[in-house]
Amino acid sequence: MKSQDIRKEFLEFFKSKSHSIVPSAPMVIKDDPTLMFTNAGMNQFKEYFLGNSTPKNSRVTDTQKCLRVSGKHNDLEEVGHDTYHHTMFEMLGNWSFGDYFKKEAISWAWELLTEVYKINPENLYVSVFEGSDDRDNFGLDTEALELWKEIVPEERIIFGNKKDNFWEMGDQGPCGPCSEIHIDIRSDAEKAKVPGRDLVNMDHPQVVEIWNLVFMQYNRKANGDLEELPAKHIDTGMGFERLCMVLQGKKSNYDTDVFTPLISEIEKITGSKYGKSEETDIAMRVIADHVRAVAFSIADGQLPSNTGAGYVIRRILRRAIRYGFTFLDTKEPFIYKLVSVLSDQMNSAFPELKSQESLMQNVIREEEASFLRTLEQGLVLLEDLMKDSADKRISGEKAFELYDTYGFPIDLTALILRENGYELDEKAFEKELKKQKDRSRKATQVSAGDWTELGEVEDEAFVGYDQLESDVKIAKYRKVESKKKGEMYQVVLNRTPFYPEGGGQVGDKGILMSSEGEVIDVVDTKKENNLIVHFVKELPQNPETNFEAIVNKTERYNTACNHTATHLLHQALRSILGTHVEQKGSMVQSDYLRFDFSHFSKVSAEELEKVEDFVNARIKEQIGLDEKRGISYQEAIDEGAIALFGEKYGDSVRAIRFGESMELCGGIHVQNTSDIWYFKITGESAVASGIRRIEAITGEAAMKYFEEQAEVLKEMKAGLKNPKNPVKAINSLQEENTALKKQVESLLKDKAKNLKSELKQEIKNVGGVNFLSKKVDLDAGGIKDLAFQLGEEIDDLFLLFGTEQNGKALLSCYISKSLVSEKDLNAGQIVRELGKYIQGGGGGQPFFATAGGKNPGGLNEALQKAESFIK
Ligand code: ATP
Ligand code: MG
Repeated sequence: MKSQDIRKEFLEFFKSKSHSIVPSAPMVIKDDPTLMFTNAGMNQFKEYFLGNSTPKNSRVTDTQKCLRVSGKHNDLEEVGHDTYHHTMFEMLGNWSFGDYFKKEAISWAWELLTEVYKINPENLYVSVFEGSDDRDNFGLDTEALELWKEIVPEERIIFGNKKDNFWEMGDQGPCGPCSEIHIDIRSDAEKAKVPGRDLVNMDHPQVVEIWNLVFMQYNRKANGDLEELPAKHIDTGMGFERLCMVLQGKKSNYDTDVFTPLISEIEKITGSKYGKSEETDIAMRVIADHVRAVAFSIADGQLPSNTGAGYVIRRILRRAIRYGFTFLDTKEPFIYKLVSVLSDQMNSAFPELKSQESLMQNVIREEEASFLRTLEQGLVLLEDLMKDSADKRISGEKAFELYDTYGFPIDLTALILRENGYELDEKAFEKELKKQKDRSRKATQVSAGDWTELGEVEDEAFVGYDQLESDVKIAKYRKVESKKKGEMYQVVLNRTPFYPEGGGQVGDKGILMSSEGEVIDVVDTKKENNLIVHFVKELPQNPETNFEAIVNKTERYNTACNHTATHLLHQALRSILGTHVEQKGSMVQSDYLRFDFSHFSKVSAEELEKVEDFVNARIKEQIGLDEKRGISYQEAIDEGAIALFGEKYGDSVRAIRFGESMELCGGIHVQNTSDIWYFKITGESAVASGIRRIEAITGEAAMKYFEEQAEVLKEMKAGLKNPKNPVKAINSLQEENTALKKQVESLLKDKAKNLKSELKQEIKNVGGVNFLSKKVDLDAGGIKDLAFQLGEEIDDLFLLFGTEQNGKALLSCYISKSLVSEKDLNAGQIVRELGKYIQGGGGGQPFFATAGGKNPGGLNEALQKAESFIK
């Protein structure tokens, strides 16, 4: 059975049991502060389990893109070393939201595996939660046990502890006991030796868990307590790649058709053969796995970067590059070449890969090239470190510096040191690493208390499209603490006019005014698992009274101008640069907007001007807003609306149209484009390879910008003594400046010539070396010229020049090549050593090197020391 058919069969099976098939949610999570990436199929349904919203269908099924590389579920270190854990994998699942429970979940899972997929039931083991005697104090899950007993003989039922049989998504959130289904795919001979039941949950590569049936019935609160969920749910997750391994009769996920095309492409590119050695096999598995994780993330809009989710993606890609570099000898970018294989293969289930193929290739290639450069540089630095180490031992601090400043991976450092017979102080390295982690954890840590519930949240709680003020009650609140912002409260209202941050637009600010006249500032609004939370510094005296929620209208209006301008900008870019332009991120604030998009070269000044004109023309046309709420996704797309990759859309969407521009968007917009007044681009830059960024301002901010420009012009004119034509005045100033520079240059050359003949007289013979160490009054370039000119005229020359410029010291050392090889002198080493006298450092080549420092007072001492090197 082909993997595609296996996936289809699963979805069809549950469709036949009245489940609706829904799309996978994006892998990168935006509205849940407790999770960075989707790590299980249930994440996108969390709001239903928590009762924050009601699903349209109480039974759904899907295949979900998951990534387990951070937080509670982190499999990264296993990946490649074993054959059944991936970073990115598909989780097949069926859900009941308050509908069926254990009985159906268990019997359908069994029916699908044994009757549809025809897996031999004798190879299957199931587990049941045995209970726990900790603070949760659970009993045995007798309900599940009785149900399983009707299907499987008791000797294939296993009792599992909390670690294996109580599923939790994270430290907080919905959870419950579970029953796992494990499979034994060993040969009969092996089975005869050790019974499969002894190997369940023992990390045996051929006795693995394939499906987990979770019986969701609790919510883990911040204080660790459990509370019953409002209703009982089913959440199941089956590893798609593992299922393929079973149904295709393979012993490793990497031998299924999910991975073989990638593995054979890696073989083709690297010339290594899969199955030859454990080391290269691991590297090939790592690369085949990681390219999937990285490609899927980029397609979902998450590019590699220096922070947050982007940094995790960058690290995954670097891990793949490193395994290639170390074990497959790949010194050129090559992982990007796997992207087309992957997107061809995945096209039917995940068309987003194919449509973004060239973007993914570009980004990955660029990342590879830059990290390979880092690796090369790191190797040089490491060699220097080894040369400088007398006791064949590299300190943890130095290794950490290599890792932290240059991105050079520690395991590679360790490997190279080992190969060269050096030792690494790993303990000290770990200590440094921990210090750094503590620092960044402290900076970001947020903890949330439990909700105090006062009332219900309405179904359509957001009323902010139509109202900026509204009579409200507080439905619940809780305390949150972040190291950055300190102590705050989150307040949820029964309904709210406040727009929660989303779609790039910032959250609304404003006030809550109580019926008793108390005023509470709302400093931010965000969405969390479909709840709209308002951030306030303090709670009202009487939270149960009536409030008026009032949005800050000026900020809201300016933000709306910028949001609509963003849509017009998107349209302008697509019409001027081409339809390859896709939105890759945006930031809409009250004072400016930022728009990232795919495009492969710098946007030229003329193009930017055209873009600006295009948008300003739409503003002048005074196009009215045409808003459609609650239309079906398909209807909107058919009408030409643009949807974004990596966004989660429900069945019913909101479409925003201004003339020819139509986008799916939940944000706030102006009523008429003329409200924007004016659109001005203030910057264009690169964010990543193939991604450009435009920054712009509108309305009030644009007005202020022009005023400031006028002020600058006024001051400039005054500085030029108010000429009639300031442009001409600047040009002539510049011409004059160029002429003067030329004069100075030629004067300096003469001076250097004189100096050269003076210095020649001063060179003395010290033990067969022509030696001079002296302070001179030239700049760095002049000194270098002088040294090389002297070097051409005089053999066996050793020069050390010191100079002071702008309060800084500079040492330059020149050594004839003959001396470098015969006398084993090294200018780089010499300046490094002498650098300490001027409180600085430097380096260079054995025949010419420089050191800069902040203490000119030490120059004389350094110059005096020079002679000791040739003695
Ligand atoms: P394991 O113990 O094998 O790590 P798990 O207990 O972490 O599995 P669950 O969290 O219950 O797994 O996830 C449900 C299913 O998803 C598992 O039964 C398995 O088939 C699959 N799965 C889990 N983690 C991975 C992974 N890293 N790569 C591939 N499949 C996975
Ligand atoms: Mg696991």
